[in-house]
Amino acid sequence: MNPYKPYLKRAWAEISLKQLRKNVEIIKNLNSDSTEIMAVVKADAYGHGDEPVCRCLYEKCGIRYFAVSNLDEAIAVRDFCPDAEILILGYTPPEYAHETSQYNIIQGVVSEDYAKSLVHNTPTSIRCHVKIDTGMGRIGLKYDTPEECADEVERIMKINNIQVEGIYTHFAAADSDSPDNIAYTDRQEKFICDVYDILEKRGIKLQHLHFMNSAATCYRNNPKSTLSRSGIIMYGLHPDISLDIPEGIEPIMSLKAVIAHVKTVRKGDCISYGRTFIADREMKIATVTIGYADGYSRLLSSKGEILVHGKRCKIVGRVCMDQLMIDVSGVEVSSGDTVTLIGKDGDDCITADELANIYGTIGYEVVCGISKRVPRIYIDEA
Ligand SMILES: *Cc1c(COP(=O)(O)O)cnc(C)c1O
Repeated sequence: MNPYKPYLKRAWAEISLKQLRKNVEIIKNLNSDSTEIMAVVKADAYGHGDEPVCRCLYEKCGIRYFAVSNLDEAIAVRDFCPDAEILILGYTPPEYAHETSQYNIIQGVVSEDYAKSLVHNTPTSIRCHVKIDTGMGRIGLKYDTPEECADEVERIMKINNIQVEGIYTHFAAADSDSPDNIAYTDRQEKFICDVYDILEKRGIKLQHLHFMNSAATCYRNNPKSTLSRSGIIMYGLHPDISLDIPEGIEPIMSLKAVIAHVKTVRKGDCISYGRTFIADREMKIATVTIGYADGYSRLLSSKGEILVHGKRCKIVGRVCMDQLMIDVSGVEVSSGDTVTLIGKDGDDCITADELANIYGTIGYEVVCGISKRVPRIYIDEA
């Protein structure tokens, strides 16, 4: 998108593709030579817009592996990245098996039965990576021993028209530094590597073995993983807010809105629905053009802060669907001024992780939740 293209300056998200490229360079340096990035671009690239993000990753960063959650997303990515390898991590109804082969997409396969149902629905062959559940408890082959797991992988390989190109697993707690969780992740990692090694001993050398997500890429990078499925750190957020991420990785999304109205209220005046805020003195209040329908959560009512000309201003009263009010006492503001809900302004910065922490979620949900109504504006394309 042309960064200078006019758009309604009400509430918008600015995405820095330059910072995306920087983040990707840092992730490349974390990985060993045997590991390539598989860019996780599900959910519209975590709310950042899949087309510009994928094009940047494919054309500017040389990324050739992408992961998505479903067939619709995969077909979209195929359009932006003609020669990329695209893996669907989640479920595809078997009746759509034909489309996966038509678009040359790799399907995550969770069982022998599922593999059979896929080939039953198409005359062409299906490329797949077999998902092993080593402790996430979500999807995949689940066995007590890696030998039994390898047996089922072999049975899947024998199904006509199934091409098994790799195996993978997903860590449940790689974003934790508690000894208990580290030991748990160690066991998950050992299990999937054992399955791979057993298959190799049986004469089956799979092209791919992958288990690293962003957290593992940062804290337990392992050259055995042929791909690092990097999601959140590409977008510059923390897998877990309590742990540092590599220096130089920064959020690529800022969220902005404008001031619609400024007024002075008197002691005793109420602000917003439910009259949860009553001024205890004379205050200057500004109304901002963003609300929960834009994905700025109502859970931030009376809790969140917003940067106005580099100064933090508190939200007063409830966040409405399209608007919210802030205390701008002592700040020079006028109607039409831009404010920052996520991002840098002056020396200060509010991150999606910080907002998430206020209302008990994770940065992932904050950025994915910025709604469709909010145009994404791409800056720093050079
Ligand atoms: C979403 C997802 C990822 C990416 O996780 P991040 O924490 O964002 O890096 C990797 N693998 C699977 C299976 C996923 O579902």
